[in-house]
Amino acid sequence: SDLDVDLILDGLNRVQREAVVSDAEVLQILAPPGSGKTRTLTSRVAYMLSQGMRPSNIIVATFTNKASKEMKERISKMIGGGLENRLIIGTFHSIATKYLRKYGHLIGLPKEFGIADTGDTQTIISRIIKRNKYSTVDGNDAGNIRSRISTLKAKMKSVDEYIAEQKKSNNIDDFSKIYEQYEKDLKSSHLLDFDDLLLRCLDLLRDHPLCVSNIESVLIDEFQDTNLVQFDLMCLFAAKRNKITIVGDPDQSIYGFRAAEIGNLNTMQQVYPQTIVLNLEENYRSAAAILNCSLEIIQQDKARPQKGITPTHELGSSPVLRRLPSPHAEAEWIVREILRLRALTGNLFTFNDYAILIRSASLARDLEPKLNNCRIPYRLIAGTKFFERQEVKPVLDYLRVVLDPNNSEALARVVNVPKRRLGTKSVEGLVAEAHKRGISIWTLIRKGVRGDLKFEAPISKPGENSLCQFIKIINDTRDMLKSAELSMKHDIAPIIQFLLDKVGYRQYVEDSLQHPGEERWQHVEELIVQATDFCNNLAAGLDDDLPDSDADGTVIEESTISIALGKFLANAALATVKESPEADQSQNKDGVLTISTIHNAKGLEWPVVFVPGCYTGSIPHSRSEDTDEERRLLYVAMTRAQALLYLSYPFELRDRKSGEKQESNLCTFLAESNLAPLMAPRGPKIISTKIMEFSKIMGRECPTAEQVQEVFKASGLQSRDDWVETDDPTATYGLSTEGDFQDWEGCEDYRSRA
Ligand code: ATP
Ligand code: MG
Repeated sequence: SDLDVDLILDGLNRVQREAVVSDAEVLQILAPPGSGKTRTLTSRVAYMLSQGMRPSNIIVATFTNKASKEMKERISKMIGGGLENRLIIGTFHSIATKYLRKYGHLIGLPKEFGIADTGDTQTIISRIIKRNKYSTVDGNDAGNIRSRISTLKAKMKSVDEYIAEQKKSNNIDDFSKIYEQYEKDLKSSHLLDFDDLLLRCLDLLRDHPLCVSNIESVLIDEFQDTNLVQFDLMCLFAAKRNKITIVGDPDQSIYGFRAAEIGNLNTMQQVYPQTIVLNLEENYRSAAAILNCSLEIIQQDKARPQKGITPTHELGSSPVLRRLPSPHAEAEWIVREILRLRALTGNLFTFNDYAILIRSASLARDLEPKLNNCRIPYRLIAGTKFFERQEVKPVLDYLRVVLDPNNSEALARVVNVPKRRLGTKSVEGLVAEAHKRGISIWTLIRKGVRGDLKFEAPISKPGENSLCQFIKIINDTRDMLKSAELSMKHDIAPIIQFLLDKVGYRQYVEDSLQHPGEERWQHVEELIVQATDFCNNLAAGLDDDLPDSDADGTVIEESTISIALGKFLANAALATVKESPEADQSQNKDGVLTISTIHNAKGLEWPVVFVPGCYTGSIPHSRSEDTDEERRLLYVAMTRAQALLYLSYPFELRDRKSGEKQESNLCTFLAESNLAPLMAPRGPKIISTKIMEFSKIMGRECPTAEQVQEVFKASGLQSRDDWVETDDPTATYGLSTEGDFQDWEGCEDYRSRA
């Protein structure tokens, strides 16, 4: 209706509006960071819905699960009515999974296929290497081989093609044998890896285009980082009507190392000559000073076409570039600065407003203890994800086995967790024997303990007893699941609790995994809560599944508890691609600070952004071969900031193994640029007028002058309006111990409140 449309277009600029209502068949919106691409894409979806298009006929691909959640929330605000819940929205991987779950049988996929996450695939490869005693020359460890296979798959090079090429050059190496065996092992365990999800979906849609014949519109965010497979998927999704909208920014392509194909932008214009290109030029995100610095960096890429970008905000505070004696001191400086800002800016910022963006997960190691020490709640979006946690993963594997005991991958991982008097040799022996006999491990051990066959694997008498126990636990839990199913119950919690009880899991976690200060058992409980919520939502009809295209929005397939559990486990595997659901924001009124890798921060924004570790070797990374991509990575990091940006680097590193000190230098991109006049070396001056400026940049209600004065008074720092740090970095930062913060009133204040 008109009313909806007004609301949808409200606050957009001319070109954005044009893009939202455009009836162009194929639309590319190419624009710099913060210009409102994602907002425009979201509004376009809302607009289509307001024009009566059915949500189940629209596919929206976002880069992360989090982004699709946010998009749904915004659409709900614009047009409401719960329509957003029936959109086919998610990452390419999750959309592909939905199609495969629903139609995979058409291409011969087993109904309950599992998803092998990065850890799983690595285990499979290690095992192949070991079993066949392949030499892993050239430093080709399992991780390396895994990413080589993944790159080949992303470029759609199947194992047969690869081997055919090798044969031509008479050079069949161990790698191709491993690749071949890997594909076989996945297949026999009914597993798909992440690349397979996309490839198999391609197969499905090529052979059965009817699956997507209802699709009227396809929209894609962050298009610059799609790979060849995703491009083909896009074409197939849209095959019926050819209505496609993509948004992207070539300057932000940072996944070349994972076979993202920047050429997709041009290919798209060739495949669809009717493509209309729109450019957005105003930046609504960042203070002009931040924008100026970021441009200084990206413009060093001389091959890049010059493009306009106009700030809409005032200059604001100059970004800070800080040199510190060590990573340790750097972390301390960051934490201190955060606490200072909190004291000075009162309620304007919560911890939700801060992000620390890092090049690699290892940089978080210096930060975490410091944040813990000051009780700053944080969420780490890097490294170990929630579902990959040492105490969480076995629970998922147990549940996988309960759902499908023939899932040998999962079974092999948990059959000796906690230790069941089966040595590593026994487990490996079982895996090898099952493989040799061509049966699942489950079948093998059941026959073995019944005496129907004699184990070749070295199993001791106590080991055999514990196998019996294991089988009983799994069977009993399966019985429970079945009876819940018969009585149409959806509560999964008692079943998981029963299982963990029998396994003695809590004891195991507390005895063998616990370190002081860690709350591992709580993570397990958190997992139970999540599984329960998930199954209940499903039972309540809040299904994240592919909507039935022919129904008019009301019919929802009935879910049994087993189906619900299966979906939960599949989601858990996919969640490890991107982010963790840890640290529930609503539980902490102060909010939660984010530590994220730069790669995972794409598309997001925060009022205050820290980018530590800006030294050569980290950015550009010593292992990266693509300097331009590394530069774009820094550009992405810098352009996440709205009001304040802090770059820093340690001038001395310590080798973690040898303990030797090593000099480090400012990242070449910063060193070679002409940034000095644009930067503030000492830290931003926070004066009362700045607070008003910040709130404008952040699009928040501006406090009155009196309120600002109140904040300053309350902070106890009003005498330090013009707060300046010492120039001598070693004076305060180099020698820090945990007690250092006690000297500083801001931290004390925060601690006493916490
Ligand atoms: P990125 O390239 O980093 O993904 P983007 O182009 O997708 O950035 P958005 O995230 O959509 O940019 O928008 C950046 C910020 O600017 C958001 O806070 C958004 O709400 C705001 N914004 C977008 N368009 C306008 C507008 N016309 N007026 C005011 N604010 C806007
Ligand atoms: Mg965006």
